[in-house]
Amino acid sequence: AETWNQVPLAPPDSIFKLTAAFKADTYPQKINLGVGAYRDNDSKPWILPVVKKATEILLHDPALDHEYLPITGLPDFTSAAAKLILGPDSNALKTNRVTSVQTISGTGANHLGALFLSRFYGWNGEKRIYLSDPTWANHHAIFKNVGIDPVSYPYYDPKTVGLDFNGFISALQSAPTRSVFLLHACAHNPTGVDPTTEQWDKIAEAILEKGHYAFFDCAYQGFASGDLDRDASAVRYFEQKGVPMLICQSFAKNAGLYGERVGALHVIAPAKETSDRVKSQLSVLQRSEISNPPSHGARLVSLILNDAGLFEEWKRDIATMAHRIIAMRKELFTILTEELKTPGNWDHIVNQIGMFSYTGLNTDQSKALVEKAHIYLTNNGRISMAGLNTHNLRYFAESLDKVVR
Ligand code: PMP
Repeated sequence: AETWNQVPLAPPDSIFKLTAAFKADTYPQKINLGVGAYRDNDSKPWILPVVKKATEILLHDPALDHEYLPITGLPDFTSAAAKLILGPDSNALKTNRVTSVQTISGTGANHLGALFLSRFYGWNGEKRIYLSDPTWANHHAIFKNVGIDPVSYPYYDPKTVGLDFNGFISALQSAPTRSVFLLHACAHNPTGVDPTTEQWDKIAEAILEKGHYAFFDCAYQGFASGDLDRDASAVRYFEQKGVPMLICQSFAKNAGLYGERVGALHVIAPAKETSDRVKSQLSVLQRSEISNPPSHGARLVSLILNDAGLFEEWKRDIATMAHRIIAMRKELFTILTEELKTPGNWDHIVNQIGMFSYTGLNTDQSKALVEKAHIYLTNNGRISMAGLNTHNLRYFAESLDKVVR
């Protein structure tokens, strides 16, 4: 038989397929609400001014070369990144219990975290990861790749277009002790539905009670509220409470460094001595997978995080992005409820957080938007708020109004 004859054809990635269809569409008012990447008010990718500045500094640094980074990455980057998510008062940082490894953005952090758990977590029985229903589709694939079975826990309630808090808590309580739960640190993808502070409190309690492990995925720090500290509050609260955990961190969205692949994995251990052993094993895994991570993006972020002036500028740039998105939510809500009097409740448009909004549109309505209005979104009714701006918002609202009537 011919080599590769037995390879079945895989379906294309739904988001990348949507982008291709959008590009091929010649309709002038077309809108792309599929991909989760920030766009400015003119639908253009935005290079953060602080990143431009940092790039300029790197360009003129005579000390820079193209040598390999250490296996676990650029130390000035990983230590500052850990402080960014855990905060300056972190007990785990002060007592040297955090192992930080530079990764291929958030996806790489998820992969390395999953691989490490697969090898070294004290599993009692089957290797399983509890994922929110729904979650970022890639989570399923990433865990399956390393032999960990994804199982879903209730998260999104279509009736309220909000959190199924009781379902979530029941799942935590009924899972076998020491189960691993993946939690979105903020700006849940795809729903935009986050637990409140009081709900996080109860979630942490349930996790501690059953000795579960928290696998935090943090892809949107700063992007949700516009404030880096506020968006890190769940992670920091869990650390304070002593929840066993790791954190996957991405700088794709909050620094607009999508293609540069800047991220980190932070594993918190109960003691420094344990942390040293964790680090040694993460190094072995990283070495066999990528040898060492890429340098350019990490240098940029390191400059920004370690320079007080650049750091302040970055915070302003993050606020610019987050507040534009929040403004679009408010504006959309106003047009739907006050002007068009669109049937249904649209509170979730302003209550949801971050890049994405689950509109509550069903499959047929979502498809109708694509086919009739040239507005591209996934069949689950998720829209990327970043695709909306003052030029296309009215057209979007009117088209949405039409498909729900
Ligand atoms: N986790 C979640 C929940 C995400 O939404 C994303 C980005 N779509 C990622 C991780 C990883 O993205 P990246 O690899 O570009 O950092």
